[in-house]
Amino acid sequence: MDTNTLLRSLPKVDELLKREDVAALDATHGRPLTLEALREALDATRAAVRAGEIVEVSADAIAADAVAWLALKARRSLRRVINATGIVVHTNLGRSPLAETAIEAVAEVARGYSTLEYDVPSGQRGSRHVHVEDLICRLTGAEAAMAVNNNASAVLLGLAALARRKEAIVSRGQLVEIGGSFRIPDIMRESGAKMVEIGTTNKTHLRDYKNAITSRTGLMLKVHTSNYRVVGFTEEVSLEDLVALGAEHGVPVFEDQGSGVLIDLARFGLPGEPTIGAAVAAGADLVSASGDKLLGGPQAGILAGKRDVIAKLKKHPLARAVRLDKMTLAALEVTLRLYLDERRLFAEVPTLRMLTMTQAKLERRARRLADAIVSACGEAFDVVTAADTSRAGGGALPMKDIPTTVVALAPHRGSATSLEERLRLGEPAVIARIKDDRLLLDPRTLREDEDPEVASALARAARA
Ligand SMILES: *Cc1c(COP(=O)(O)O)cnc(C)c1O
Repeated sequence: MDTNTLLRSLPKVDELLKREDVAALDATHGRPLTLEALREALDATRAAVRAGEIVEVSADAIAADAVAWLALKARRSLRRVINATGIVVHTNLGRSPLAETAIEAVAEVARGYSTLEYDVPSGQRGSRHVHVEDLICRLTGAEAAMAVNNNASAVLLGLAALARRKEAIVSRGQLVEIGGSFRIPDIMRESGAKMVEIGTTNKTHLRDYKNAITSRTGLMLKVHTSNYRVVGFTEEVSLEDLVALGAEHGVPVFEDQGSGVLIDLARFGLPGEPTIGAAVAAGADLVSASGDKLLGGPQAGILAGKRDVIAKLKKHPLARAVRLDKMTLAALEVTLRLYLDERRLFAEVPTLRMLTMTQAKLERRARRLADAIVSACGEAFDVVTAADTSRAGGGALPMKDIPTTVVALAPHRGSATSLEERLRLGEPAVIARIKDDRLLLDPRTLREDEDPEVASALARAARA
């Protein structure tokens, strides 16, 4: 058949709509998207005819194309993935998974009305801060507290409220960039504070701070350099010394703690990141941290500090712009409540559970995952378990590799790289690491009920 005859034989949209498979599309996705899918499929077929790629027009094939196109279009963009990387607080994969009880609280307040800003005893308007303030105070020893959208907005709010049109002193060793978009100099500029850099990259002395204090000084900022370390000849001023200097000159001290550690993790062989409470105890006027890093809660910025400072922050116009919504507040309240009972905390908050998983448990999990893979995939891969390292991630505890046991796969056909890609493009996507031509799956970040899913994803990938 020549090209024109083929083009004339293309089915009409109306005819296609009468087909059973297309009618099913219409019922699920509605008329506008179904029509778009059919036009896309017809256009693609027309182009293929003109290019001489097909010699026969098939309504079945066009309908199948429309179904495939719409399946892709209708797929949710923000969707679940399986994290087999062993990076616990994986910023690109959504940082901390929430505790089940936190998820239930989110669903409850999302479904109906809530006490978000309603004081039940008086029947009057209440404050959204009450849901987490006492909990943060109790867990950090602070006089007052609040929570905002994330730590970046917490720092922005703190700087704007305490140092707008004033000078904020910060060490050159702490002018950090975190996650590619949070940069201390940029946040400073946006807050309206004038940054006064002191010291050098590796060394900053107390006298550098002292010499920089003027009548225009609004605050001294200390940034916890959680995503890198300066090693060698280094010197930083302790928070205690800064607080003493600040008290002498009436200058508040703001510590950006970052990782949101509320309890001492050194007990579990993790490096002793300073806790928010330690910064409060050292006398910091204001401390900020993320809610979704090591704290294990939802995206949020925690602000803990002196009563008058927090009062100023709550009244600042930016506070409204960076406030938390009810779903996040619900998740944060429940997560913080879990800290009141450490047994529940380590059992129920996934980030802490994963970080403190024992070597014995990881080994057992790896062996079980390896067995599941072998029974699902047969001889497709060479499967072994091996010692490797997980990471805390999320710009927290970055230099610390945490020992783990991984499942390492070498495909008998094709490369580990193409296997990684097929897993990533599958549904659900499985995100894994590659090392020395092997695909590594770290059980630390896998839920036990995800093991069979990983095994079937591998079986699909092996067949593809
Ligand atoms: C992670 C981090 C931030 C940014 O926090 P977000 O919650 O991602 O906005 C700021 N400062 C420090 C020290 C951090 O570790």
